[in-house]
Amino acid sequence: MSLLPVFIDIKNQPCLLIGGGKVAARKLNMLCKAQADITVIALELCNNAKDLCAKYSVNVVTREFTDADIDKQRLVIAATNNAALNQHISELAKQKNILVNVADDFTQGDVVLPSVIDRDPIQIAITTGGASPVLARMLRSNLERCTPAMYGELAALVEKFRKQVGEQIDDETSRRRFWEEVLQGPIAEMVFAGKLEAAQEALANKLRTKDFTGNETGEVYLVGAGPGDPDLLTFRALRMMQQADVVVYDRLVSEQIMDLVRKDADKIYAGKERSKHTLQQESINQLLVRLAKEGKRVLRLKGGDPFIFGRGGEEIETLMEEGVHFQVVPGITAAAGCAAYSGIPLTHRDHAQACIFVTGHLKDGTVNLNWEMLAHENQTLVFYMGLHGLPIICEKLIAHGMFANTPAALVTKGTTPEQRVLIGDLQSLPGLVDDHHVHGPTLIIIGSVVTLHDKLHWYLTDKEFTA
Ligand code: SAH
Repeated sequence: MSLLPVFIDIKNQPCLLIGGGKVAARKLNMLCKAQADITVIALELCNNAKDLCAKYSVNVVTREFTDADIDKQRLVIAATNNAALNQHISELAKQKNILVNVADDFTQGDVVLPSVIDRDPIQIAITTGGASPVLARMLRSNLERCTPAMYGELAALVEKFRKQVGEQIDDETSRRRFWEEVLQGPIAEMVFAGKLEAAQEALANKLRTKDFTGNETGEVYLVGAGPGDPDLLTFRALRMMQQADVVVYDRLVSEQIMDLVRKDADKIYAGKERSKHTLQQESINQLLVRLAKEGKRVLRLKGGDPFIFGRGGEEIETLMEEGVHFQVVPGITAAAGCAAYSGIPLTHRDHAQACIFVTGHLKDGTVNLNWEMLAHENQTLVFYMGLHGLPIICEKLIAHGMFANTPAALVTKGTTPEQRVLIGDLQSLPGLVDDHHVHGPTLIIIGSVVTLHDKLHWYLTDKEFTA
């Protein structure tokens, strides 16, 4: 290791930045966040630098650098676009034992400003020792992704209780266990979900009851897995998938997504195929309660978004009644996923000023809907679960005044490599289903926005059909 990683407390310490361009602005941003007493010397400031100087009341000196400027500084950053000047500043600083960083030239200075993941008070700093700033940035974005935004709040909460916990739990192993449970369990999740007061209360309670046996009530994560493409998961969904003890999942959750679930988690299939519900809704509700009460972290993984035709409301109602902690993570609903991946914008200034999500699910052999409200121009209709009832849907819309040639699309297995898009109109759509042997989750999009598919489709173009 050729560098000593240190974090310097530079608050209110005199720091000098020479330069006012984009690179200088990045350094200035770091100095401002560290609350240094900053002087900037530059002939000109770029907009970013100007904004920062105004926001943090930075002392700006508009002239050339002179050697005397570095006297009494704690840290000097040379970030001009003149390499010779940067080198001169660096030598001068080193002579006077002042820490110096030279932008874009690792070899000249003696201090490196790393790439930082900022979760104040937590800071994760990365350097490649000058080898590749781009690599450092890539690493940073990987870490950003798996470090929840509220980690800082979690650290702040721990800090608040640290002394007290130290006083009350003297055995080191028990203390470690206590903190592990806090940091990996429901209390941490409460913080991540923004429930800071509840988390503080739960932590105080845990300490009061000296409960660090791991026998806590578990919790349920009701998570939307999106329409199929694993890349469309949210960061939070992925994190919960990787920490759950047991997963209760639906048919719509794709295999690639299930592959991302923690390997040793128990997996329970809850079905949900049309008229072949493997587990009845009531049994699912009770299952979630039972598992959570056994102390498990239960991931209830659903296709799309849990609150859009996902019966998520019913599931959390039961959890609420039973006093089980839970949180809901939204997912990309099939309509949004299929629209994007088929190049059919659901609203468009020239075509549709509204969009309605409708269930096409048959009840007693018919689709009971407010057809007058649905049969209108200038709006897009998106039918979920409509494949079976498609002939009735088309017939009813035409009977209520929509033109038989209103454009309509079927998007099957949207956002996956097996996506198929069939384009037709209200008249032809039911026939397309038979002709093309459509099966699998299918969304029906109706309205003149469908005509845009011709121009805007971009995904898997070689596999799609237009009829
Ligand atoms: N909660 C889910 C919807 C569940 S209802 C969501 O927000 O997306 C199930 C219906 O969703 C299916 O019958 C189908 O109409 C639609 N659907 C789900 N995933 C789909 C996909 N990948 N492609 C097309 N339609 C899909």
